[in-house]
Amino acid sequence: MTDRSQALFAEAQKYIVGGVNSPVRAFKAVGGRPLFIKGAEGSRIFDVDGREYVDYVCSWGPLILGHSHPSIVQALKETIEHGTSYGAPTELEIDLASMIVRAVPSIELVRLVNSGTEAVMSAIRLARAYTGRSKIIKFEGCYHGHADSLLVKAGSGATTLGIPDSPGVPHDLAKLTLTLPYNDLEEVERLLEREGEGIACVIVEPIAGNMGLIPPVEGFLAGLRSLTAKYSMVLIFDEVITGFRVAYGGAQQLYGLSPDLTCLGKIIGGGLPVGAYGGKKEIMELIAPTGPVYQAGTLSGNPLAMAAGIQTLKILAQKGIYEELEKKGQRLCAGIEKNIQETGSSLYLTRIGSMFCTFFQPGPLFNYQQVKGCDTGQYAQYFQHMLTQGIYLAPSQFETGFLSLAHSEGDIEKTITSNYKALKTLK
Ligand SMILES: *Cc1c(COP(=O)(O)O)cnc(C)c1O
Repeated sequence: MTDRSQALFAEAQKYIVGGVNSPVRAFKAVGGRPLFIKGAEGSRIFDVDGREYVDYVCSWGPLILGHSHPSIVQALKETIEHGTSYGAPTELEIDLASMIVRAVPSIELVRLVNSGTEAVMSAIRLARAYTGRSKIIKFEGCYHGHADSLLVKAGSGATTLGIPDSPGVPHDLAKLTLTLPYNDLEEVERLLEREGEGIACVIVEPIAGNMGLIPPVEGFLAGLRSLTAKYSMVLIFDEVITGFRVAYGGAQQLYGLSPDLTCLGKIIGGGLPVGAYGGKKEIMELIAPTGPVYQAGTLSGNPLAMAAGIQTLKILAQKGIYEELEKKGQRLCAGIEKNIQETGSSLYLTRIGSMFCTFFQPGPLFNYQQVKGCDTGQYAQYFQHMLTQGIYLAPSQFETGFLSLAHSEGDIEKTITSNYKALKTLK
């Protein structure tokens, strides 16, 4: 077998810093070199060396329908016939925006942008403008994109590479970001008692998906809702992963809560670059051109991205989709759970619908401090064992696995069998 990935990685490093355009793609935490991908279809990705893998990264969340879904490909072909970008409004933007507004009742008005980072960055600016306050609260291990204010105790790649507090973020800005442990409502309450009047917003991943997968404990999110209301702060749900993933209306539908602002991304672009933020009309109307809070984008509402997003949401709106995803998640995790028992491994498994994570540490785990104790060396070995068997997992312990509608029973069985062998070897 050739190793064209190796050669391409060497070549890439001559021109692209670190050889990758997003650090999470480097295999730094698991060893070896990243696979260079030639194409993908359904649940499978194909590398440049002709190997095939069952893909649980799914482009880090967007591809809930699987790769190269025929109706997405078709919609893109039809759209591109007419052009690629106009810098002027199109009907497609209304279609996607209205689907979002109908799906998520807390979103009365929405603004479409190009990435999750942009969505969150803009939502924070808006919350600060709306409240006239500067400080924000985020939770340790939550990742909200790479805007300066949010690269404080950030999860995902920042945690994987051991740089949750990035150099280059001015101290004077970072000190406006107050960080608290996830799932600890008492800490929030204590902080708000001290300085609630000066805080613009609380931003939270309603299901933490960037320190591995850590579900919210009972009462945590509802508590945030009532505390932020009490102190007249803006509650922002960062649903860039969970939006249209755990339910059509996102985590807020699942838990029956209504944040003031919501950030979306990933799935709503169907694999093309899109983000969105939206919420209460009264707050959203502060954005230009209606109001004074500036936020713009040359390619925002790009017709190709709109077409892919619209098709994705159309399919997700069909009956029984989330039940099907739940069933796939259940089957996969029941299999892994059984393997854990049979091999006597001390893994801790979390799952919500089609999101799952295997932690190399006994559970239960509720926050970043605990998650950081995982045996990342073991994860690296596990990752390599799975890869060798044709299963492509995230190259980091601190990421969530994603199932898509394209993952077949056969894919899931193969994964369970591979997982058994990997756990057995690791013993
Ligand atoms: C991926 C992600 C982001 C950032 O989105 P990008 O499109 O990568 O900029 C923000 N928040 C959460 C919760 C994410 O998972």
